[in-house]
Amino acid sequence: MSEPRLLDWRDRSHWAAKPLPCQYCGGPTHLRDNQRHPSHKVCAEQASNDRTPE
Ligand SMILES: [Zn+2]
Repeated sequence: MSEPRLLDWRDRSHWAAKPLPCQYCGGPTHLRDNQRHPSHKVCAEQASNDRTPE
C-alpha cells in the first residue's frame, strides 16, 4: 500500500502575494515550491509522487 506523499506548505515561505502560473498546470497560484517556482500544492505532490516512487 503506497499513500500519496503530502507536502507541508503551511509555512509562509510557500506563500507569495502575487499569483503566478503554476509550473505544472498553468493555472494561477499563490503557492511556491521549495525552489520558489509557482506551483499548486496538489500539482507538486503529484509530480513528487511521480518522480520518487516509494
Ligand atoms: Zn497546478
